[in-house]
Amino acid sequence: MTNHNEQIAYPRVDLLIAGQWRQASDGASAPVINPATEEEIGRVPIATLSDLEQAVLSTEKAFQVWRQTAPHERYQIMKGAARLLAARAREIGLIMTLEQGKPVAQAQAEVANGADLIEWFAEEGRRISNRLIPARIANVEQRVIRDPIGPVAAFTPWNFPVNQAVRKISAAVAAGCTIILKGPEDTPASCAALVAAFTDAGLPEGVINLVYGNPSQISDYLIKHPVVRKVSFTGSTAVGKQLASLAGSQMKPVTMELGGHGPVLILSDADVERAATILCGAKYRNAGQICTAPTRFIVHDKIRAPFLEAFVEGAKAIRVGNGLDPETQMGPVAHERRLAAMEMLVADAVAQGAKVAAGGKRIGNRGFFFEPTVLTDVPLGARAMNEEPFGPVALINSCDDEDAMVAEANRLPYGLASYVYTRSPRKAADLGRRLEAGMISINHHGLGLPEVPFGGIRDSGHGNEGGAEALDAYLVSKYITHYDTH
Ligand code: NAD
Repeated sequence: MTNHNEQIAYPRVDLLIAGQWRQASDGASAPVINPATEEEIGRVPIATLSDLEQAVLSTEKAFQVWRQTAPHERYQIMKGAARLLAARAREIGLIMTLEQGKPVAQAQAEVANGADLIEWFAEEGRRISNRLIPARIANVEQRVIRDPIGPVAAFTPWNFPVNQAVRKISAAVAAGCTIILKGPEDTPASCAALVAAFTDAGLPEGVINLVYGNPSQISDYLIKHPVVRKVSFTGSTAVGKQLASLAGSQMKPVTMELGGHGPVLILSDADVERAATILCGAKYRNAGQICTAPTRFIVHDKIRAPFLEAFVEGAKAIRVGNGLDPETQMGPVAHERRLAAMEMLVADAVAQGAKVAAGGKRIGNRGFFFEPTVLTDVPLGARAMNEEPFGPVALINSCDDEDAMVAEANRLPYGLASYVYTRSPRKAADLGRRLEAGMISINHHGLGLPEVPFGGIRDSGHGNEGGAEALDAYLVSKYITHYDTH
């Protein structure tokens, strides 16, 4: 787990408040831990209430300017930010691997994809248009104009420190809003580097403020603050429900990107090799810490044996190690909490009768490494079958009835991503309708591009963070009717 070809120093992490990169006003900070070595690699500042208030004042002031800025100018600044981010992808990716653990190639691809997202939102911002509704009488003009909703409070997690933040920042900024982002305390430097690409590209002071600190204190302060007009959160369903309730009590709209428990239906006519290869890659990418990860595999009895054999072989072949090593295919989980959760979920499932077909244990005793794990015959009562594992654990059960497969897929209240493997176009279309999920990917892994919707239903949240839908959440419609007395 050594042999790291590329090295980089972990940078100092600052808050960005009212255009100033600086430490917390009382100097408080918390450690940042490298999950591959468990060493402290840096510090993250903990914003005080007075820092938050300054951020709010700055976002309010900047909104009056940014909302009036021509969409074309916003577009040009965003295009500049995309160029800078792409040019810095190598370096930011290395920083992300140090703090988050994922293989450096995946980290660098995440940054490059971030640039792609900024560019797409920049373009989309130029297409926001108003409309005229024909009036019933002469001399009346009926207009619908779309205005930016106002300053946004956004909260993003540590699994994709750039990707989760860039969607919220880009949609807000393209729509003419300002944004206070609470970035991930576990992985703050790569998120800060994303924000720096915007400020270095000429984004005016206060359009983005970046804070870190005590998550519940920050969300409570910002969501209740009258200046903040919209809330956007990515994280667990439990926290999402708390924040949505708080926002609801303030009558503030929310975008909620929450947990999932990705069901995967592999029908008897599926291309088994293709399914196993694609799903194994998707399951263990980012050590399984992806809200859209395939999790509950429901395989038709007829192909259970060949699918399991191919999937287990794939899982066992994954090279786990420090993400800085170019040979590494899966890094550690991002922090000790996930390691403890994996150990607990596997022990609970096994105690209830599940079989371990691959992995199942921590690797070594330094760094938060966990084996790519496959559990089979997992009882429905096992915790892993009901809670989002959010780690490298695949749960593979089988069934001989397609209706029962659909019922199992829809059993949990989550509804983020679902997967289907079948050669039948008729069954594909039918399952696309019957599965309760915001995103359904059939015979491939086709989620997450800038131009397609990204979002869940039911307990997985609401709103969209991709596609043409994504900007709607940052705009309000105003109807103006005018009788011309001239
Ligand atoms: P957690 O629930 O404590 O935190 C999840 C995220 O929410 C973190 O970024 C955290 O800073 C933030 N958060 C927590 N409480 C908050 C509050 N009161 N106000 C604002 N933000 C708050 O759990 P964790 O240990 O960091 O992660 C575990 C679980 O979180 C996972 O099991 C997974 O379900 C979920 N998660 C989901 C995503 C996603 O992409 N949807 C990403 C990361 C974590």
